[in-house]
Amino acid sequence: MNQNRLFHLTRWRLAAWYAVVMGFILGLCGLGVYQAIVHAHWQTLDRELESVAGTLHDSIENTLKQPGRLEPTTQQLLPEEREKRHILGAIHQGDYYVRLLDNSNQIVTLAGFQPQELRLISKKGTWQTLKDAQGSRYHQISLSLHTQNNISWGSMQMGRSLQDIDNYLANVKLILLLGLPIAMILVGASSWWLSGLAMQPIYQSYQQIQQFTADAAHELRTPLAATQATIESALRLYSFTSETQDIFSAIERQNRRLTQLVTDLLLLARMEKQPLSVQNRCCLNDLVSDLVEELASLAMPAAGCAYASHIQLTSKFKLDKPLTVLGNESQLYQVVSNLIINAIQSTPKGGRVTVTLERNHNYAVINIQDTGIGIDASEQKRIFERFYRVNSDRSRNTGGSGLGLAIASVIVQAHKGSLQVQSQLGKGSTFTVRLPLATNIFHKDDNKGEAR
Ligand code: ADP
Repeated sequence: MNQNRLFHLTRWRLAAWYAVVMGFILGLCGLGVYQAIVHAHWQTLDRELESVAGTLHDSIENTLKQPGRLEPTTQQLLPEEREKRHILGAIHQGDYYVRLLDNSNQIVTLAGFQPQELRLISKKGTWQTLKDAQGSRYHQISLSLHTQNNISWGSMQMGRSLQDIDNYLANVKLILLLGLPIAMILVGASSWWLSGLAMQPIYQSYQQIQQFTADAAHELRTPLAATQATIESALRLYSFTSETQDIFSAIERQNRRLTQLVTDLLLLARMEKQPLSVQNRCCLNDLVSDLVEELASLAMPAAGCAYASHIQLTSKFKLDKPLTVLGNESQLYQVVSNLIINAIQSTPKGGRVTVTLERNHNYAVINIQDTGIGIDASEQKRIFERFYRVNSDRSRNTGGSGLGLAIASVIVQAHKGSLQVQSQLGKGSTFTVRLPLATNIFHKDDNKGEAR
């Protein structure tokens, strides 16, 4: 994967994780706040009801003489209509009701606000939450009543409507629910900003490493070129013993390999900094035929060829007209040549390497298919990593450094295409390069809007 895309993707992932974690914490906080508000309301309500009911209960008990019978003095203590002020200030304010029940649980008298069809609950001294016919909720306390002679008289129930509290809590819930998406948007934006801050030092240090690689590769090029020229002219101008000649040839070979490695590193570093510099029309038919012709000598048996022989290298064009893409011809040349050389080097004697070029919708598709050793499924993703080699010893023998596919993949991505592999161990591999056709790419300075 292109390193810049990797950084971008990592930033997205980091931001998403920040947002999920922060969202979870915020959600929990919201729930906690809501629960705390509910709890505080219930506590206040219970305390208020308990205190009002307790005071009324004590006053009523002082007036009771016979079980189940209501004395006129008792009647005076009970709140009447809602509008009238009662000695127990709170009663006239809310929707309070009082019910006196005898020992057989029959209502002796009702006072205060009268909820409709509210069930009678006989349990004494306990808290109850009830619903009336309209579904409104009430909170009630039941206290047992005794006469002045301490004979059981019955019980007193005092309750209060929960309408105002329920409305308030519904509003709090709505505010929290509406606030959550707004909070999540803010969390998302701040997560993106924070992940950018977190990635900045990593990105900067990566850029420094990249710059160092590019500078080092650039600096190494001159002495390497000088060494190469010196060895070549020494070999040409002087006559050495065969042993010395062999030593010089080995130095020259290794120097060429080193030069190639430095060139590859420089190309990778440059492509990351400045993805695609030159863009020209490039005919893929010509490119593929030239390469197949050029590399035929590598596939054919030839004296001095270390790795491949007797390999049938062919090309097939499944098209009626040439395919043209927009890009850097020498870079595309390098991609296809790397893939064909890899295929030849991975195919044993008598095998076949076929290069096909076809059109698939708006893409040119180049398949490099071989009947070679294949690549294990676990290795198929890793082969595009830098310096990764499936079999280091074999790759070293063929002169590979493990950069070929990394470079190919960076170049193809810079051309807005893709590079994929399909392979079966022992049966062969197919590398597929997909490149957008030139007709689909519009130049931004092309004011006629003509496809180029
Ligand atoms: P190198 O320059 O060492 O060949 P590459 O990046 O081109 O490195 O390839 C990475 C690894 O993928 C190499 O170790 C090579 O063995 C393996 N490979 C590439 N192409 C093929 C293929 N067509 N068949 C089998 N293995 C392959």
